[in-house]
Amino acid sequence: MPRYLTKSRFKIGLDCPAKLFYTGKIQYPDTSEDDAFLEALAEGGYQVGALAKCYYPDGIEVSERGYDIPLQKTRELLTNKNATIFEAAFKYKNLFIRADIIEKKGSNINLFEVKSKSFAGSDHRDMLSKKGFIDSGWIDYVYDVAFQKYVITKANPDWTVNAFLMLADKNSLASVDGLNQKFLLKTVEGERTIVEIVGDVSPDGLGEEVLIRVCVDELIDLIFNGTDSPNPPERGFVNNIHFLADMYERDQKIVIPIHKDCKVCEFQATPEQEQEGKLSGFKECWKAQLGWDDEMFDLPIIFDIWDYRKKQDLMDSGIFLMHDMEEDHIGDINSCSDGRLTRTERQWLQVRKAVDNDTTPYINIEGLKAEFKTFVYPLHFIDFETSMVAIPFFRGRRPYEQIAFQFSHHVVNADLSIEHKGHYLCEEKGTFPNFEFVRRLKAELEQDNGSIFRYAAHENTVLNQIMVQLDEAPIGDVPDKNDLIDFIKSITHGNNHAGTRDMVDLLKLVKWYYYHPRMGGSNSLKYVLPAVLMSSDYLQEKYSKPIYGKNSAIKSLNYDDGWVWLKKDADGNIINPYELLPRLFEGIEDDQIEQFLMKSNIQEGGAAMTAYARMQFTQMSDVERDAIASGLLKYCELDTLAMVMLWEYWYETTK
Ligand code: SF4
Repeated sequence: MPRYLTKSRFKIGLDCPAKLFYTGKIQYPDTSEDDAFLEALAEGGYQVGALAKCYYPDGIEVSERGYDIPLQKTRELLTNKNATIFEAAFKYKNLFIRADIIEKKGSNINLFEVKSKSFAGSDHRDMLSKKGFIDSGWIDYVYDVAFQKYVITKANPDWTVNAFLMLADKNSLASVDGLNQKFLLKTVEGERTIVEIVGDVSPDGLGEEVLIRVCVDELIDLIFNGTDSPNPPERGFVNNIHFLADMYERDQKIVIPIHKDCKVCEFQATPEQEQEGKLSGFKECWKAQLGWDDEMFDLPIIFDIWDYRKKQDLMDSGIFLMHDMEEDHIGDINSCSDGRLTRTERQWLQVRKAVDNDTTPYINIEGLKAEFKTFVYPLHFIDFETSMVAIPFFRGRRPYEQIAFQFSHHVVNADLSIEHKGHYLCEEKGTFPNFEFVRRLKAELEQDNGSIFRYAAHENTVLNQIMVQLDEAPIGDVPDKNDLIDFIKSITHGNNHAGTRDMVDLLKLVKWYYYHPRMGGSNSLKYVLPAVLMSSDYLQEKYSKPIYGKNSAIKSLNYDDGWVWLKKDADGNIINPYELLPRLFEGIEDDQIEQFLMKSNIQEGGAAMTAYARMQFTQMSDVERDAIASGLLKYCELDTLAMVMLWEYWYETTK
């Protein structure tokens, strides 16, 4: 196969030129390839792409894969004076692209690159920073179109090419119901993701367009002139394209200095993969530049420091390991007068514990005691699962509105009894769940005046967003909207309100008063929970017994009696309770699971959102739907139980 620089390889090369050497090689595992279908579900890109094509009913698709046949077919179609082509293929030297949509009118070409990203502006000027550079949030997208415009123009020098980004228009309102249910995802040949179109997708059936075309020619001119950013590519945009293409064609590695974003490099092999003989691109880069051996990767690297913004500066000065850091590298490590850890104090605490191999937790008992005095029983612990869907569910709704589809609710009573008190999950397809979600949450929380706990800002943000949606909704559609708005105001804070029962953020308490080396640089509950279990004999004793279940001492709505949360592996280490969760497809026959492409357990990042997208945008049997719903309910229940366990640990430690 020829080694052409394609759109996706150009993007990889821009991200980090060294990656071009590893991409597509079976010996270098690539984590970004693991879950292409899940990503498609989570991002909605395929569905937006299919919707965009529906806006061009006369378009003809070049569906063939590979290089020569698509090029040939495109050439044939372009012999027509006017044509609209989907996936047209163009080649210039060792550059090859497939354009999402091409509109040919004589020698004028409109090139449309379709993205599922949302846009709330009106034209390209809304993609510029105050200094007149392309905003960093848009640069990758505009570079992508600029690359395509370059290839098409070079391949057809007589044409005038106008380039557009076609984006989800945040200012638009769907004028028909059920738009998002017309585009369902499926895999074919075991790997390729396609969209199955269901129902009427004529212009009438689609209603008002919810995508916007933004002409980006002026931005592309900035790129070609090297004035698009304060730090454009040194060799210039066009020379850079050809440099990347030539190096890729020759399969030659581009050596660039290792950098802070290596932390999220997709070419990091797992220890298991390395044992199987696979190679880690990440280690290869670092070993080549630092002369490290395998053992060095066991030492704490600076990019694992929580919220540390000087990583690149430190790497530029030749410091890569926490062992080589001094206090000054963190900055001014000032203390708070109220005893709360500041950001820099917490960072230095993490570094010291990592360097000293200190496995003991830090806990500020007096600080927590003072906070505990302000809490009112019964205590409520809530967690939301949400999603943002590119194509609106209903008439009158916008692209990428927040969808709150699930919550879980645990209670700790004044006698310290614990109960999984309630939950909500919207399983139905094409239903806008937000108002019922708040109605159900209100019913759960309005029974008393106890303190409400969330973990991080998400719950507050989501409720504020739903408040705006309620405000815009006609009273005829939501008769109780004022009650729901009053309820939201009472338990949240926002620009113009501060609720009398504003939720307490447990994450803030973690950041101020607690750190365990096992958490590393993360304060996510999924890292905090095992750390807390390790720290607390009380929790270990309590949760190693079968006390959790539908009729057990701690009442559950989703776990059968006899469930034990604290289990140890063969080496005596506590197993993270999230790893005890059943597979999402528990209860389905193996061959059904096979057909249903599930590769991951539900505890993986964004899994709830992806599972919800799967329920919305794929065809499935009732058995499959029930299994996903059951997995989601168990997952969210553990989130609020984890918050309860954190509270219990602190309560026992401070009493
Ligand atoms: S380890 Fe760093 S330099 Fe090497 S490919 Fe990955 S991101 Fe690029």
